[in-house]
Amino acid sequence: MAQIELTDVRKSFDTTEVIHGVDLSVAHGRFAVVVGPSGCGKSTLLRMVAGLEDVTAGSIRIGGRDVTGVEPKDRNVAMVFQNYALYPHLTVARNIAFGLELRGTPKDEIRRRVERAADILHLGGLLERKPRQLSGGQRQRVAMGRAIVREPDVFLFDEPLSNLDAKLRVTMRLEIKRLHEELGATSLYVTHDQVEAMTMGDVLVVMNGGYVEQIGAPLEVYERPASTFVASFIGSPP
Ligand code: ADP
Ligand code: MG
Repeated sequence: MAQIELTDVRKSFDTTEVIHGVDLSVAHGRFAVVVGPSGCGKSTLLRMVAGLEDVTAGSIRIGGRDVTGVEPKDRNVAMVFQNYALYPHLTVARNIAFGLELRGTPKDEIRRRVERAADILHLGGLLERKPRQLSGGQRQRVAMGRAIVREPDVFLFDEPLSNLDAKLRVTMRLEIKRLHEELGATSLYVTHDQVEAMTMGDVLVVMNGGYVEQIGAPLEVYERPASTFVASFIGSPP
């Protein structure tokens, strides 16, 4: 059974349709990367899976359950954003715990989950620090900690590494993959970076202009691009 399933999903802003009927199925445990040029609809698609945007038509199922119209907090997903604003006046521990505190999660349950997240992310010694005392990579890890403490089955990443320098991006790609494996999660990872597209996922979804142009294993897409757009975007040999 698919863990994430989109059926003929469409999205219009006012009268302009920007997502034109997307079908997508991601099996449990897979790491799917959605790639495409800026403005092609990647963030909008991800936000609809998260429930941060309504779909105009079509349906979304997560873990077999139809979640179309269900609130984000009841979807069993967590999202890691590109611009992960941490609260400067709160410690790392409280930054990670913040969403749980808002929901009124019991204190000892919060402590257990924050410790587990810190463990997984190697943030153990940094829990009492403030964000300004952290490096860029450590801050990005705190942002991931916020997603992990929710203990979701599905992780959604919207270009989480695009604000980091090239060297750190390489490290964090591996870190994200390790996390995904360790948590037994299903992930949908959005990027406009061809390197991330080719190396991170076991499923590659190529988008263009609000359509999905091709879905397949990265190597298969590279070797057998379905259109000239895919070939030129992925850099397939002629
Ligand atoms: P990507 O993440 O691939 O760069 P987006 O999903 O952000 O693309 O945007 C897809 C299209 O939808 C773009 O044309 C963008 O201008 C439009 N769009 C996104 N969000 C809104 C919004 N809230 N209101 C109006 N148009 C939007
Ligand atoms: Mg985007």
